[in-house]
Amino acid sequence: MDEFGLIAKYFAPLAGEGAFGLTDDVALLPRQTGDDLLVTTDTITEGVDFFGFDPSSTIARKALRVSLSDLAAKGAVPAHYLLGLSLPHTVTPDWLAGFAEGLAADQKQYGVSLLGGDTGVTDGPLCIAVTAFGFLPHGKMIRRCGACVGDHVYVTGSIGESGGGLAIFRREIHSLPEADRVSLIARYRVPEPPVRFASALRDIAHASVDVSDGLIADLGHVAVASGVRIIVEGERVPLSAPLRALWGENTLLRAVTAGDDYQIAFTGPPGLDGPFTGIGKVEAGLGVSLTLHGKEIAVPKLGYRHF
Ligand code: ADP
Ligand code: MG
Repeated sequence: MDEFGLIAKYFAPLAGEGAFGLTDDVALLPRQTGDDLLVTTDTITEGVDFFGFDPSSTIARKALRVSLSDLAAKGAVPAHYLLGLSLPHTVTPDWLAGFAEGLAADQKQYGVSLLGGDTGVTDGPLCIAVTAFGFLPHGKMIRRCGACVGDHVYVTGSIGESGGGLAIFRREIHSLPEADRVSLIARYRVPEPPVRFASALRDIAHASVDVSDGLIADLGHVAVASGVRIIVEGERVPLSAPLRALWGENTLLRAVTAGDDYQIAFTGPPGLDGPFTGIGKVEAGLGVSLTLHGKEIAVPKLGYRHF
């Protein structure tokens, strides 16, 4: 199959309004009034962000969700995406069918559609770039720079599970029950960004970031952008039972420095209640520190870094 046959067979069925069924050079979005448009892009690479042996449907969903996570953290509702593919020569029709199925399932779940993209073949590893577009009311984007002294710090979901799944693939020794192992690997393969929470978030958050490189590292970005000190109270960080079973007494330090969570960390007024957990506070100063029962503990490695 050539490039155009491949696009027509696997991707045209995913095309949304304005994409001309992927038969033209561009997509056309009629000008919208009132809302702001947010745009973000993320690339995932075989051997770095996923494994070549992962099911193609989960690779597709991860590629899409890591971009939806950025939009959600900013308070935007996702609408469309572009898909850039560098495919190894060895890719099969079955692989592509699974990949398209994964995208179709997430398009339905999140209400997004495909606008277009680019397809190439490579001798290198499989690479997938997703550029996602989302909308929110004018002026309502939640920045990293809005944290105020006196704010409390909150996080959605639980932290570190994806890192736990990766550790299992890297053959860290463990004696986990099958169900725990499966649930950690599922989180690594398919993150669950709180996309539906975005519109509520923009009414309560002062500053927000998606947790992709590790909770401490990403809150560090908020601290620097806002010119404040963020204290993360370790005993309050949500850690799942399977993760505790995997990492034991190291769970907290491992979890807050693991990457790939795709949850949202944000600051806002004290006393907020919702689908998130209070984990700390904002003080005068600069940077981020981790405490356990009031005592500061050293964080050896801040988070995932590509370079
Ligand atoms: P060009 O020759 O200008 O690079 P292409 O032949 O790459 O254009 O693309 C033809 C059409 O197919 C365009 O509408 C493009 O957006 C779409 N397309 C190509 N690759 C993908 C992909 N991976 N996902 C979605 N749409 C794609
Ligand atoms: Mg092209």
